[in-house]
Amino acid sequence: MSLFDWFAANRQNNESAHQPQQEREIADGLWTKCKSCDVLTYTKDLLHNQMVCKECGFHNRVGSSERIRQLIDDGTWVEISTNITPTDPLKFRDKKAYCDRLKDYQEKTGMNDAVVTGTGLIDGLPIALAVMDFAFMGGSMGSVVGEKICRLIEHGTAEGFPVVVFCASGGARMQEGMLSLMQMAKISGALERHRAKKLLYIPVLTNPTTGGVTASFAMLGDLIIAEPKATIGFAGRRVIEQTLREKLPDDFQTSEYLLQHGFVDAIVPRTEMKRTLAQMISLHQPFHAILPELQIETHVEQEKEKVYETVASTNDFYK
Ligand SMILES: [Zn+2]
Repeated sequence: MSLFDWFAANRQNNESAHQPQQEREIADGLWTKCKSCDVLTYTKDLLHNQMVCKECGFHNRVGSSERIRQLIDDGTWVEISTNITPTDPLKFRDKKAYCDRLKDYQEKTGMNDAVVTGTGLIDGLPIALAVMDFAFMGGSMGSVVGEKICRLIEHGTAEGFPVVVFCASGGARMQEGMLSLMQMAKISGALERHRAKKLLYIPVLTNPTTGGVTASFAMLGDLIIAEPKATIGFAGRRVIEQTLREKLPDDFQTSEYLLQHGFVDAIVPRTEMKRTLAQMISLHQPFHAILPELQIETHVEQEKEKVYETVASTNDFYK
C-alpha cells in the first residue's frame, strides 16, 4: 500500500466514523438543518416554533394539516367537501399520464387534491378556512381546488363566517388546461357574493404564491397578509426578464417588495399569525354579533340606541 492509498483509506475510515452518525440523525429527522443559515435545530424545537428557524427566522414550508394545527383551536376543526376527487377529463399525458400522477400524489400525501377546506374556531371566533398544500403537485389549482375553495366561500357566505385562504401554489394546473383557468373566475365570483354580504376575506400568501392563484383570489382580499420572504408573483422572474430585456431587482417578487409597493397590507411572521388573524377578525365582527353580548344597564340602554342608529346609518351609507 502506497502512502497515498493509506491516507485515502484512513480518510474514508475517519469520515465513516464521524459523519454518518450526524447524517443519520438528520436523516431520522431528529435534527433539521436550516436551509437559510445552515444551523442544526432539534426538530421538536423547530416544530414547537411552528417550523420557523430561531436563528435566522427562515420559514420552513409546512403542510396543510400542520398549518391547521397551528391556527385552529383544538377540537374545533370540521373538514368539508372531503368527497370531491380529481378526474382526468383531457386524458392528459406528459412524461407520465395525469391519472397516474394523481394517484402517486394521493398515496404520497394522503390528500385527495392540493387543498383542505373546513370550518373551526380561531381564538374562539368562527372562520371558514382553506389551506393549500404545496406537497400535492406544487399546490397547483385544478378543478378540485377551485371547486373546494368555491364551496368553502359559499359556506362562509351562508353562515356569515369570515373566509381565510392560505395560498401556496405554483399556479393553475396545466394538466387540466382551460378547466383550471376557469377556476379563477369561478372563485372570484364566489368572493364577490361573500363581499356583497359585507363579510371579511383574508388571503394569506405563503411561499410560493404564483400564477393563476396570484391572478385571482390571492389578490382579492379585504386585507392581504404575507409570510416573510415568500415568493409572490404572476409570471416567473426569468420570463419577465426575457420579455422586458431588463434585469429585475434582487428582492423582486418577495413579500417585502410587495409590501413596499402596496400589493400586500401586512407581513406577519408565522409565530404571530394566529393572534393577528384572530385580532383582525374580532375587529371586523358584524355588529349583530357583538351587541347581544354587551352588559346592558339602564343608562347603557340609551348608548345602545345610539349604536343602533349609527349601524343603521352606516348600512344606509353602504347601500
Ligand atoms: Zn436559519
